[in-house]
Amino acid sequence: MREETPPAADLFSKFDPLIAERQALLDTGVRDPFAIVMDKVLSPTLAVIQGKETILLGTYNYMGMTFDPDVIAAGKKALDEFGSGTTGSRVLNGTYQGHKECEEALKAFYGTKHAMVFSTGYQANLGLMSTLAGKDDYIILDADSHASIYDGCALGSANIVRFRHNSVEDLDKRLGRLPATGGRLVVLEGVYSMLGDIAPLKEMVAVAKKHGAMIVVDEAHGMGFFGPNGRGVFEEAGVEADVDFVVGTFSKSVGTVGGFVVSNHPKFEVLRLVCRPYVFTASLPPSVVATAATSIRKLMHAGAKRAHLWENSKRLHKGLRDLGFNIATPEAESAIIAVLLPDQDKTVRMWQALLEQGVYVNMARPPATPAGMYLLRCSLCAEHSSEQVGHIIDMFAAAGRATGCIA
Ligand code: PMP
Repeated sequence: MREETPPAADLFSKFDPLIAERQALLDTGVRDPFAIVMDKVLSPTLAVIQGKETILLGTYNYMGMTFDPDVIAAGKKALDEFGSGTTGSRVLNGTYQGHKECEEALKAFYGTKHAMVFSTGYQANLGLMSTLAGKDDYIILDADSHASIYDGCALGSANIVRFRHNSVEDLDKRLGRLPATGGRLVVLEGVYSMLGDIAPLKEMVAVAKKHGAMIVVDEAHGMGFFGPNGRGVFEEAGVEADVDFVVGTFSKSVGTVGGFVVSNHPKFEVLRLVCRPYVFTASLPPSVVATAATSIRKLMHAGAKRAHLWENSKRLHKGLRDLGFNIATPEAESAIIAVLLPDQDKTVRMWQALLEQGVYVNMARPPATPAGMYLLRCSLCAEHSSEQVGHIIDMFAAAGRATGCIA
């Protein structure tokens, strides 16, 4: 393949500002926050990065299931018995017994009649949004919705209406202005992953119902942690009976990869035939669905882990707030504690100082963040020990002082 760029109209030229911005940042001598390599992963909370043992505080491994012995054994067994991949779509040769078992585990976990497993959560949102709402219908979504929800809207042909983040009043107003004809799909998330804030689902679901809308809740960050059975924020809010679809992922609390939609709608199964991101892609490998099914069944009885994760989240929030950091939420609302910083330079310096201390967090910047925010996103794990949380707070103190982020 040729290497030189063509003389006219190089399609890459639109990326020049981003390339220059990144280069300017790296020229200041900082490490590239988007090029970290985990050389070894020792446990859900510890990895080796550039030869240094580092506490992981920037994963979505909320329940620490990635090293669960039962989960690993199930994956190894499926790998031995069914091979490394399905090499096909769910609707052709790619549905194995393990995919059905995984869907059974989801139905048991959510207490629903139907469950559909996708290859990622991204594809589950892509599929649901693009398939369910047609050109005469309306999708009403929170302005801070995840990229996969926006991309699902872009793939489909429905009319898109955004409402102000977490504003029940704005949702009500926008639904009230819609024409009487056309279907309505209100899309909500239990936990918003950038700031770690949760949605007022009780009020929002009531408003959506009042206007005759169907409701989908993305519980990517709520599954495993919220509600008496770990189903998500919608369970904790007591609105299970009014929600039409729950979207989720295996890439967070479940500890592997994959996505799903669960529902009680009597016609739900037709989606398997019409949902392009389900039909036109290969299904998950047998080892992945086996680990997911095992993990999901264990998460049904993880009350003690949930309690410890809350304890960790509240303690880190208080510890960082007491040190003088600006946190996105006044209290811990989820296992995500987002530390707001004034600009990219301070954020990257703080991120690097933390890494040098021995703790990895996620750096987030626009366009992933709302309102042009720069933040360090800490996400806790039920397997973080109390000692680790104490150590993390000490490392934030040292890094914050060294970089001038706190006094
Ligand atoms: N929804 C939300 C709210 C998410 O945060 C994510 C992933 N970050 C997804 C969907 C997509 O999940 P997956 O990683 O399985 O593609």
